[in-house]
Amino acid sequence: MIERIFVDRKAASEPLTRRILKNSPDIPIEFVTRRRPIDDRMAAAEDPIGEGKKILWLTRQKGGFVKPCPCTPKYIGCHYFIINSVLNCPLDCSYCILQLYLGPSPVTVFVNLEEMRRGWDAFIRRRSGRFFRVGTGELGDSLALDPLTRTAAEFISYFRTRPNAFFELKTKTVHIQGVLEAEPAENIVISWSLNSVPVARREEKGAPSVFERLEAAREVVKRGFPVGFHFDPLVLHPGWEEAYGRIIERLLRMIPADRIRWISLGSLRFSPALKGMIEERFPASRLPLGEMVPGRDGKLRYFKPLRLELYRGIVTALRRNGGEGIPLYFCMEDGEAWQKILKKNPGRKDDVERALSPRVKGSGSNLRLY
Ligand code: SF4
Repeated sequence: MIERIFVDRKAASEPLTRRILKNSPDIPIEFVTRRRPIDDRMAAAEDPIGEGKKILWLTRQKGGFVKPCPCTPKYIGCHYFIINSVLNCPLDCSYCILQLYLGPSPVTVFVNLEEMRRGWDAFIRRRSGRFFRVGTGELGDSLALDPLTRTAAEFISYFRTRPNAFFELKTKTVHIQGVLEAEPAENIVISWSLNSVPVARREEKGAPSVFERLEAAREVVKRGFPVGFHFDPLVLHPGWEEAYGRIIERLLRMIPADRIRWISLGSLRFSPALKGMIEERFPASRLPLGEMVPGRDGKLRYFKPLRLELYRGIVTALRRNGGEGIPLYFCMEDGEAWQKILKKNPGRKDDVERALSPRVKGSGSNLRLY
C-alpha cells in the first residue's frame, strides 16, 4: 500500500500528477527537487525494498518510451515490447525479479503522458504494417495503481486505433474499473498472472486470490475484451498437478476459450542473487527449497525432465478442459521444450511472432495475421 507520495517539482504541473494527487486525498505528499529524500528513507528502513513499495514517486521519463523486452540470453524470447509507464510495484511477490533488477526503488509513475505518446507514435510509425505485441506490465503491474492514475482507459483508447499493435495490460489485481469504462477492441488484451492456490497464497503478498482474479477476467470478457493468462512461475509442490488442474478447470468454465488470446507458461527460475534475496526477505517462502540446476543463462531452474513434466501437466489440463485451441507460448525456454511440449520450434523471433499473432476479427486490420 502506498503510504507517501513524492512529487518531482519538474513534474508537478503535468495533468497526470494533478489527477493522481486528487485521487489520493489521504496520502501525505512531499514536493522535492531531487530523489535524495526517497533514497534516504529507503536506506534507513529495515527492508529498503519493502519500503520502496510504500512510496509513490511522480516524475518525468526521459526517452526510451518503448523498448524491446530483454528476455534472457540463450533462450527463445517472445518478441515483446515494453512501455515503462510505471517502474516497480506495490505488491510483493517473493519471486519477483524486480527486487534484484531495480533494487531499493520507489514505485515510480512517469507522468509526462503527452511526450510518451509522441514516443509511441514514432515507434508505431517505424513498425507500420508489422504486427507486434506491447505492454506495460514488465517492470510493474499494469493495473495495481490504476485507482490512482486512471491511465488504463487512456492507454486503451490510444492503442485501440493502432491495429498492428496488440496492447496488453498485465496484472495480478482486480482494479478493472478503468478497463470497464473503456471501449473494448480486439487488439487490446487484459491479462492475469495465475498460479495454484497454495503458491499464490504463500508467495504473492498483497495480491487478490486467484479466484478473485478470474472473476475480474470474467467481467472484462463480458465487457467485450479478449484476455490472456500467464502461468508463471509454475512451481513444483506436493499435489501441483491437481492444484493447477483445478485452476485451469475453473478458468475454462468461467472464460470462453475463444476469448483467450494467449497463455504463457514459465517455470520457476531465479539467479543465485535473487535466491539469496528471497531467503532474506521471505523466510517462510518455500521457493528456494526446491532442487534447482543452473541453466545456460546462469539462472537456477528445475532439472529439465521435471520442467517438461510440469508443462505437460498444464497442457494436458488445458486440453482436458476444452482449451486445446488456445495459443500457448513459453517464457524463456529452449527449442527442445517448444518442440516436445508445443510441437513447434520457433527458432527465430519472427516465428514466435507468427505463432502468437491471433486472427483478428473486425479489427479493421489489413495486416497478414496468422
Ligand atoms: S505483481 Fe508482478 S511486478 Fe508486482 S511484485 Fe508480483 S511479480 Fe513483481
